[in-house]
Amino acid sequence: MSYEKRHSCEGLFIVFRKSDANIQFFDKSAKICRLSQITSRIRYEIFFIFAQIFKTQILNITIVGTGYVGLVTGTTLAELGNTVYCVDIDAEKVERMKQGHVPIYEPGLEEMFLRNIQARRLFFTTDLEEALPKSEVIYLALPTPPGEDGSADLSYVLSVSNQIGDLLTDYKVIVNKSTVPVGTADKVRETIAAKTKIPFDVVSNPEFLREGFAVEDSMNPARVIVGSESERAKDVMAQIYQPFTNIGIPIIFMDEKSSELTKYASNSFLAVKITFMNEIANYCEKVGADVDKVRLGMGSDDRIGHRFLFPGIGYGGSCFPKDVKALIRSGKQEDFDFQILEATESVNQAQKVILVSEIEKYFGGNLQGKKIAIWGLAFKANTDDIREASSLDNIEKLLEKGATISAYDAIAEENVRKILGDKISYSKDMYSALENADCLLIATEWSEFKNPNFEMMAEKMNNKAIFDGRNMFALEQVENSGFFYKSIGRKTLG
Ligand code: NAD
Repeated sequence: MSYEKRHSCEGLFIVFRKSDANIQFFDKSAKICRLSQITSRIRYEIFFIFAQIFKTQILNITIVGTGYVGLVTGTTLAELGNTVYCVDIDAEKVERMKQGHVPIYEPGLEEMFLRNIQARRLFFTTDLEEALPKSEVIYLALPTPPGEDGSADLSYVLSVSNQIGDLLTDYKVIVNKSTVPVGTADKVRETIAAKTKIPFDVVSNPEFLREGFAVEDSMNPARVIVGSESERAKDVMAQIYQPFTNIGIPIIFMDEKSSELTKYASNSFLAVKITFMNEIANYCEKVGADVDKVRLGMGSDDRIGHRFLFPGIGYGGSCFPKDVKALIRSGKQEDFDFQILEATESVNQAQKVILVSEIEKYFGGNLQGKKIAIWGLAFKANTDDIREASSLDNIEKLLEKGATISAYDAIAEENVRKILGDKISYSKDMYSALENADCLLIATEWSEFKNPNFEMMAEKMNNKAIFDGRNMFALEQVENSGFFYKSIGRKTLG
């Protein structure tokens, strides 16, 4: 089909030209726009225009679990025009969302969330029984935390599947967005089928969003993976994601098991890439090489690429650590040793606290009574998520050794307070955290730390020492500041 249309949006004219193979967007001066240059507001208009052209059917969708994945997926699907019912067992959270409060920090989410509530496309409830009959499709975005042996705990997914089995009255597609081991679609299917004779399909549709960029990633995914062998379910999934395929985002269909494994394989690969680079960085220090140079040299090869080559104090978060563990565990169940993942896990664990021994060495082996300022608590920048954050491992070790901590993180502080309470002190800005500190440890790469006033820092601190776990500064930036500066994989200054 070929199609061309001029459309006005936000004072811009965008011309859509679509042939079967290619779609291009032009701005009013006839320059080609890449999709990434188009604001989400305009993209939203584009989705709607294509929905009209291709007569995309708007669906009613239930999302069970409104965490980082569920809430962002639900809001995105509403943004694409569907009516979405978000279900969560956390009554307080549901109440806050009904009042228009976004319960997580995710750039760009609030605007889209409020727009869709106002448009009456996004609803919240604690009652699956209320939402399910209204929906053709049920997404599961439930936690799959590591169990005691490291395997993914499927109890949330299977208990909701059980409920779904009791509630089915007509055909539904159950879409699993949680990260789950190979074979989970079968388990979900068996659990529901044990309760009902009504036909249904179970689809694997893993999520690849990055916290901190979740809205951007959900509105503009690199690809959509759908695991299903049911033609009926595949048609429904193709319909849901048609606004994406219409603008050239690929949807890759495969069997459920391959789809489930694609998610673990992707996350584990990235964890290995980060960890490999951390080992190269540690080796750089031994031989006097500079990891920044090595990183640039390696990344310029497009078989390697620049991303995920930044060394630091290890990966954390709610996904990489648990997904690496779960894949190792799944392997063991088949008598298969993921040797590379076992090594990755142990190297990463050591990397997370590699600067504690450096700090200890700097203070002659005694941290008793030392005041350590920490900049950044979130597991990475642009999120309030602190699950498996390196900051927490460092804090635990430093407290054990008798140090006191004054921390600053404008976004993640509230979540850390819930776990650590007043075991550490919290500062309202990055400079007041430094008051009388014996050294600074940087644990998260928040942008506001990139270009600090070193003079002001020196005035506040007892002692001029920085241990930078995220290589925030170029060495030249710190060189003449008089600070002792220890980063990862580079020469130590001072
Ligand atoms: P989360 O912990 O942020 O949210 C889970 C939500 O489910 C919570 O709001 C919780 O109250 C709710 N819940 C628990 N039991 C429920 C029940 N019985 N009924 C209704 N709601 C229930 O989790 P998340 O980070 O959104 O992750 C969800 C899944 O997606 C996990 O499998 C995770 O591995 C995967 N995933 C996460 C990310 C990420 O960046 N966070 C990215 C890709 C995939």
